[in-house]
Amino acid sequence: MLDDQWFSEALASDGSAFSLKIKRKLHEEQSEFQFLEIYETEHFGNLMVIDGCTMVSTRDNFLYHEMMSHTVLFTHPNPKNVLIIGGGDCGTLREVLKHPGVERAVQIDIDERVTRLAEIYFPELCESNNDPRADLKFIDGIKWVKDAAPNSIDIIIIDSTDPVGPAEGLFCADFYRDCFKALTENGIVVQQSESPLLHMKILSEMRGEMQAAGFDHHQTVFFPQCIYPSGWWSATMASKNPFAAFREQDAASKTFDTVYYNSDIHKASLAMPEFFKKAFAK
Ligand code: SAM
Repeated sequence: MLDDQWFSEALASDGSAFSLKIKRKLHEEQSEFQFLEIYETEHFGNLMVIDGCTMVSTRDNFLYHEMMSHTVLFTHPNPKNVLIIGGGDCGTLREVLKHPGVERAVQIDIDERVTRLAEIYFPELCESNNDPRADLKFIDGIKWVKDAAPNSIDIIIIDSTDPVGPAEGLFCADFYRDCFKALTENGIVVQQSESPLLHMKILSEMRGEMQAAGFDHHQTVFFPQCIYPSGWWSATMASKNPFAAFREQDAASKTFDTVYYNSDIHKASLAMPEFFKKAFAK
C-alpha cells in the first residue's frame, strides 16, 4: 500500500498497519524469487521491502541484527562455524563476524539481488562481506543444509522472510531435521520467530516442528523491532541438549561495539511473558 508520501505495510488479518513517511522510491525490481523495493524515508534512512513486507531500515536494524546474533553466540560455549540462512541484507553477518572466535561464517541466501541491493543502499551492513572468514552463497538454504556435512556447524541462524514463498520450508520439521544433523552436539539453531503478540500460532507451530525434529530444548528471546508488525519481535533458539550457561562475563567484557545488545539486555530478553509461559509450560 502506498500513497504519494507514505509507505504502509497493512496486516489485514490483524487490522493493523505500519507506515513510514517517504521522500522517494529509490528502486524496485522483480527478482527470480521476490519483488524488491527500496525507499528513502524522511526519518528512518533507507527502507528495504520484500513482497510488500518491511525488511530492514537504516535507523532500526541494529535491534534485530544484534539480537539475532549476539544472544545465540554468547549462549554457545565456543562458536567457530556459523551458518546464516537468509540474511541477504548482510547485517546479521556483520554482527557474527564481530566475534573474534568465529572462524567461518557461511551466508546462504536464495536471492543474490537482495545482497546486491544491500551493497548499494545499506553499505554499512555489508562492511564485513569481504572478511576472509565470510563465505556468501546464493542458493536455497533448504537444499544447502540437506547436503551439509553432519556435525559440522556450531550455530545456524535462520534470518529469513516470513513463512511464505521461498521461506515456507524453513519453518518445517524436515528442514529442522537437516539442521539437527548438520549441528554439533552442543550446536544451536536460532530463527526469527515473528511477533509474540500477533503470530503465536506460527511461533507455536515452529516450536512443535523443532521438537518433532529432535530439538528438545527451546528458548525464545523477545526484543523490540519498530518496523515489523506490532513492533514486538522474537527469536527462538533450539538445541539437542540443555543450553550451556550464558557466557555473561564474556558478553559484559565484549571488545566490539553494539547499539542495543549487552549482557543485561541478554538476560532481560530471556524473561518470558506470563501468557508465553502458560502457552509453553511443559
Ligand atoms: N529480518 C528480516 C525478517 O525478519 O523478515 C529478514 C531479512 S533477510 C532480507 C530475509 C532473506 O531470506 C531474504 O533475503 C530472502 O531472499 C531470504 N530467503 C527466503 N527464503 C530463503 C531460502 N529458502 N533460502 C535462503 N534464503 C531465503
